[in-house]
Amino acid sequence: MRVLASGRTEVGCVRKHNEDNFLVEPEVGLFVVADGLGGHAAGEVASRIVVDKIGDFISHTAERDRTWPVEYEVDLSYDGNRLKAALLLADQGILDDIRDNPERESMGSTVVACLVQADRATLVHVGDSRAYLLNSSGIQQVTRDHSWVAEQVANGILTPDEARHHPFRNVITQALGNGGDLDVAVQEIQVKELDRILLCSDGLSGMIQDRAIWEIVEQASDVEAATAKLIDTAMANGGEDNITVVIIAFHPE
Ligand code: CA
Repeated sequence: MRVLASGRTEVGCVRKHNEDNFLVEPEVGLFVVADGLGGHAAGEVASRIVVDKIGDFISHTAERDRTWPVEYEVDLSYDGNRLKAALLLADQGILDDIRDNPERESMGSTVVACLVQADRATLVHVGDSRAYLLNSSGIQQVTRDHSWVAEQVANGILTPDEARHHPFRNVITQALGNGGDLDVAVQEIQVKELDRILLCSDGLSGMIQDRAIWEIVEQASDVEAATAKLIDTAMANGGEDNITVVIIAFHPE
């Protein structure tokens, strides 16, 4: 399969700074979206550290002849270990920066990262940045948000629609750089021809319903047109937060 990808970010209609960052590296098979927290320019530092640390670690671990910086988990694939270690190093990178720059104490970042090798996509995330799988039959959210409302939905206390409009909808339960133990979920999915994986910050998923995201991607002529139209639609719907989207499309050779 041929992998085509496009990424875009936009500050939105309300915020002064764009605290999101993304990485699109088709030659490595690596795709990342990070949504910085902390304000006063600290959030953009945090999300920059995250994409840089992950990009650096993944590009240096293509070969397996390396001492591992964290515990190697035998139950996970090599790519699963690469992504998990990359996130833990990104977490540590933010904490190191805070130690040197205490004024950025409150910064942190969510992240969703995807590593593609042939027909296998390995995904990790922390926080409410999402990965979706799309194809002609529909759209499916692959990641489960680390957020208060997602926990209430899982426990049957809120419906997905109530969660979408809940005043606590932006409360996340874990983030990189917050100093706590991280529960990094690693998932692997098999992809087929014409599947697409979409990564986004909550500035996209909060402004456009899943079904509308699917329709826009289905109707777009290519990945560039799809990312542009998604950003335009999120802006037209209010653009209340920074908006970032990455689409990875799997085409026949
Ligand atoms: Ca956000």
